[in-house]
Amino acid sequence: MLPQKLQVCTRCIMDTSDSDIKFNSDGVCNHCHEAKVKLDNGWFPGDAGLKKLEKMASEIKNNGKNNEYDCIIGVSGGIDSSYLLHVAVKLMKLRPLVVHVDAGWNSEIAVQNIESLIKKLDLDLFTYVVDWEEMQDLQLAFLKSSVANQDIPQDHSFFAKLYEFAANNNISYVVTGSNLTSESILPNNWGYDASDSIHIKAIYKRFGNNKLKTYPLMSFFKQKLYWPYLKKTEVVSPLNLLDYDKNQAVEFLQDNYGWRNYGGKHHESKWTKFFQAHYLPIKFGFDKRKAHLSSMVVANQITRDEALAELNKPLYDLIELAEDKRYIARKLGITDSQFEALLILPNKSYTDYPNQESTMNFFRKMKRSIGL
Ligand SMILES: [Zn+2]
Repeated sequence: MLPQKLQVCTRCIMDTSDSDIKFNSDGVCNHCHEAKVKLDNGWFPGDAGLKKLEKMASEIKNNGKNNEYDCIIGVSGGIDSSYLLHVAVKLMKLRPLVVHVDAGWNSEIAVQNIESLIKKLDLDLFTYVVDWEEMQDLQLAFLKSSVANQDIPQDHSFFAKLYEFAANNNISYVVTGSNLTSESILPNNWGYDASDSIHIKAIYKRFGNNKLKTYPLMSFFKQKLYWPYLKKTEVVSPLNLLDYDKNQAVEFLQDNYGWRNYGGKHHESKWTKFFQAHYLPIKFGFDKRKAHLSSMVVANQITRDEALAELNKPLYDLIELAEDKRYIARKLGITDSQFEALLILPNKSYTDYPNQESTMNFFRKMKRSIGL
């Protein structure tokens, strides 16, 4: 149930739809303070960032000088990973193995964007296609579980496959497009960690119909110990070393790579678009645009008024929503009314299902206490 009246932060546009939000006496929220700390410690626009970027590039190149590829980059056709490819090849002079995990929900624009970047940058692309029968059943299981984060099946497969590729090809660096300028704010209670394979298996066991035989799963051991410490796979995010501005990146990509915009953040996936622009805000009251726009406000890339104006735009065009719902129901192999019935199931929390949150928190604390 949403609160009667939302209190909105006076600095960013986060509000009480995040039930854990706290405001100080000036009405500024905890996210503003936390995001500022993250940006101060992890975002380096200007000369300092360029020096760090140069150092990062030479470490990656040195490390991989005897390999066919010196790093791995996962692409979705979205803004961040597309711009990252340009940065990696043109600015950092890296030789990436580019991997795309196709979990069945690619928009045509996303596929075209990937193709034009690969062609113009003359790179090798490896596409891994997730078995659709398994993915479909897992996606339906998640809908039946009625948890908030319906992007877990897709996100988990992306990361699992990317790290597996890196390890199997002896590539030490995973270069990601994650960036603090648009992602410094995201309330914990708006979703749950997509890396938790125990959670995925538990939901699938309860609501799925078969067995996950080939779906890419990554165990806690693999992601927290084997890959980082035994295989020494390092994850780096160069966009944090640049004055990365998403709006400027869009223009640059359009002008230089024939790249096409598909609308909202992560709408390069048909599923993610429906999930972020309908399922999450309508069913749970969580509008992720607030977090993304607030991140950009705190990074001084847009003003609070510009963010509010953007937020006032409708989440979905109603005709498009009806078309997308029909497309998704067909793709999931269910009728329109079966799909509607799944969307109105009582909301559940990830804590209603087995998960390894406490193990992950314990591990995080332990790492901090020994200075890792
Ligand atoms: Zn705020």
